[in-house]
Amino acid sequence: MVEDQEEEKDQTTGPSKGADLRNDIEITFEESFLGVRKQINIMRDAVCDVCHGSGARPGTKVDTCTVCGGTGQVRQIQSTLFGQMQTSRTCTACGGKGKIIREVCEKCKGKGKVKKQTRISVTIPAGIDDSQTVVLRNEGAPGTNGGPNGDLYIVVHIKHHPLYVRSDVNVLCDIPVTMTQAALGAELKIPMVDGTEETYRIPEGTQTGTKFRIRQKGFTSINGRYKGDFIFTIVVQTPKRLSKEQRDLMEKLAKTMNEQPPVRKKGIFG
Ligand SMILES: [Zn+2]
Ligand SMILES: [Zn+2]
Repeated sequence: MVEDQEEEKDQTTGPSKGADLRNDIEITFEESFLGVRKQINIMRDAVCDVCHGSGARPGTKVDTCTVCGGTGQVRQIQSTLFGQMQTSRTCTACGGKGKIIREVCEKCKGKGKVKKQTRISVTIPAGIDDSQTVVLRNEGAPGTNGGPNGDLYIVVHIKHHPLYVRSDVNVLCDIPVTMTQAALGAELKIPMVDGTEETYRIPEGTQTGTKFRIRQKGFTSINGRYKGDFIFTIVVQTPKRLSKEQRDLMEKLAKTMNEQPPVRKKGIFG
């Protein structure tokens, strides 16, 4: 998708667009949710500040190539079996530049440009998904002979989050509850991606694996037109250690309940 055509473009004398550049950036899950402004350092060509792009040592003369008359191309007439054919090829005397530099600029070695580290500010919109690209027009390599600059493609990578997973524009999350909260119902504090908390009441008898949806608390769609939901899944935690009192209560409770719930057979034939 992004090609570096710089070398080819140096061979022509007409205005040509600079190369497109690509840069990868890693952001957090929260940053992708809220949007973020980032500073990035990129290496790109800049006009040489010693020769101002001419490629010649300051104060020395630049001559127009006499072989091609400054066009960078020479025409050739070839006699073939089918008659005369006119072809054109890149002028070898000036390498297609149309100019002869007597003394080259020491800084850029005659290229007229130098690699330079540049700091660029990029705005990553809220809702951006992993591997999506932000394009900064005209921030690529400079064009040659008055051509426009190339573009800069920022490919965004989103770090894995220990709690949240993205699914389309929704946020998915597991919420652990105790067995008594699941059995009796409870008011839960659910942590949102933006750092706020939502209070959500789960009903009594909530099974592990049950999903609840908090509307409009997911990602903003990239066009900003709608919002996804926050969907959390209840995970009932079985206590691993009980105090003496808890054990006694549990045993009393156990006596009031049937031994094992019936196993419902769900075969492949229904
Ligand atoms: Zn220079
Ligand atoms: Zn020439």
